[in-house]
Amino acid sequence: MEKEKSVLEAAECTEKEVVSKNFIEQEIEKDLAEGVYNHVQTRFPPEPNGYLHIGHAKSILLNYGLAQKYGGKFNLRFDDTNPTKEKTEFVESIINDVKWLGADFEDRLFFASNYFEKMYECAVLLIKKGKAFVCDLSADQIREYRGDFTTPGRESPYRNRSVEENLQLFEEMKEGKYRDGEKVLRAKIDMASPNINMRDPVIYRVAHMSHHNTGDAWCIYPMYDFAHPIEDAIEHITHSICTLEFEDHRPLYDWVVRECEFENPPRQIEFAKLYLTNVVTGKRYIKKLVEDGIVDGWDDPRLVSIAALRRRGYTPESIRMFVDMVGVSKANSSVDYAMLEYCIREDLKLKKARMMAVLDPVKLVIDNYPEGQTELLEIPNNLENPELGSRMVPFGKEVYIEREDFMEEPPRKYFRMFPGNEVRLMGAYYVTCTGFEKDADGNITVVHGTYDPATRGGASERKVKGTIHWVACGTAKQVECRLYENIVDEEKGKLNADGTLNLNPNSLTVLKNCYVEPELGAAEAGESFQFVRNGFFCADSHDSSKGAPVFNRIVSLKSSFKIQK
Ligand code: ATP
Ligand code: MG
Repeated sequence: MEKEKSVLEAAECTEKEVVSKNFIEQEIEKDLAEGVYNHVQTRFPPEPNGYLHIGHAKSILLNYGLAQKYGGKFNLRFDDTNPTKEKTEFVESIINDVKWLGADFEDRLFFASNYFEKMYECAVLLIKKGKAFVCDLSADQIREYRGDFTTPGRESPYRNRSVEENLQLFEEMKEGKYRDGEKVLRAKIDMASPNINMRDPVIYRVAHMSHHNTGDAWCIYPMYDFAHPIEDAIEHITHSICTLEFEDHRPLYDWVVRECEFENPPRQIEFAKLYLTNVVTGKRYIKKLVEDGIVDGWDDPRLVSIAALRRRGYTPESIRMFVDMVGVSKANSSVDYAMLEYCIREDLKLKKARMMAVLDPVKLVIDNYPEGQTELLEIPNNLENPELGSRMVPFGKEVYIEREDFMEEPPRKYFRMFPGNEVRLMGAYYVTCTGFEKDADGNITVVHGTYDPATRGGASERKVKGTIHWVACGTAKQVECRLYENIVDEEKGKLNADGTLNLNPNSLTVLKNCYVEPELGAAEAGESFQFVRNGFFCADSHDSSKGAPVFNRIVSLKSSFKIQK
């Protein structure tokens, strides 16, 4: 209880901070007031080289939210200028995820590769202005000439080629006369600049490679730092919101759009990336987990890709709440995974029916209940939200209860079933425990009790301290449930000494012998419910089939949050 409270406090406190922290909004308002721009145009520019994760969700919702707030527009643009790692599969999954999050890009779905011709023209313009040159140094030599933070760079011996020669060589690069790496086009800026990005960066390279969108039309491809600002300028992006690692690239971006003579160039504003504790987001690590069969794909419910969160049962609303709570900041920090869990609990608690499921069953036989009789009991779906109505749940002489709800010798303050104690079967009757049976190994096999017919519906003047859930044998549906823990535990160290992930061996528990109310047997893939006392569960979208759902636990009801000191 105390832990739950502290998440709440943290959440409220974060919410307050956001108000004063949204420096991006302040900057945009200033630009609008000063007439720098008369509208707002933002974009999300993913590279289609993997699945999106919770960090990207922040960027998507931030950019979309800003466009919304200022009556502007939001584009989805694939930054697909590097054919080595990009795939159509990723393009499709990204579009799907952005739509699912509710960031509406309407008809503005763009591909940087559709601007290759324009980028080429920009490069030619730079050459004509004496601002770019073809360089024959190898990649290693370029690195060596570049210098470092303490040493200024040295100029390339090819830096002073004539405009004509440069135009001809660049044309030949385009025609495929050179091998990969044999020649590059470089911007001519300043080899002595304290900002290494300004030391004559490479802007075009030769790469004889098929591109997912342009096929074999090109064998030269623009470098990210040249392409990216041009893409934004072509789309008339006003505010180019990106993460902090691009701060040092901003002078180069500004140089590119200025020298390429774009009017009204975008303004870049940086914010800190979102990091979450106890999760794995690095593409390299996830790939390994998939390859090693530790997770069952990029959308394994233990991962935090958007696809995984969706499969686990997270909703777009919960992710929006989370992103709002976290706010935007200039300083890198990690957010506790428990905050995300708090958001999904908040989102689902009034929306979902509270149904009964027994995850670790033991049979309770009610000896004084008439043999062969069953009855239907009306149980409200959600006491806090009467709009969800009620349902009829079958009850009978034999029911399953949780194994942990019976104890032969109870400790102090244990109010559930033990010999001689009376409890309430939720929404049904009061039952007094009269005995139990054990097998040769000492395991409890059956619990016995008697019921009081006068307590139908679970109400009586007589007070009982314990209420337990149940499902009637015979009509209950046997299902598989999967419980999750974080895949890594930062307190125990995220990485082993050899750099591999220090995996939590208990990240997945598969329970094959769970019993749920008959209605839950018909759950559709992707549907979610509260299982009373056990948490929120969602029918798995891969492994559920008609009439045989497999349930993933989205989150338990109580926070397992450890306060960060
Ligand atoms: P890579 O490591 O391959 O560059 P990436 O995660 O940066 O991957 P991109 O497709 O380049 O992937 O990212 C698209 C956008 O999402 C970028 O604008 C980037 O700044 C933003 N972004 C990426 N990770 C985060 C994060 N953790 N938090 C917020 N924004 C992020
Ligand atoms: Mg990137």
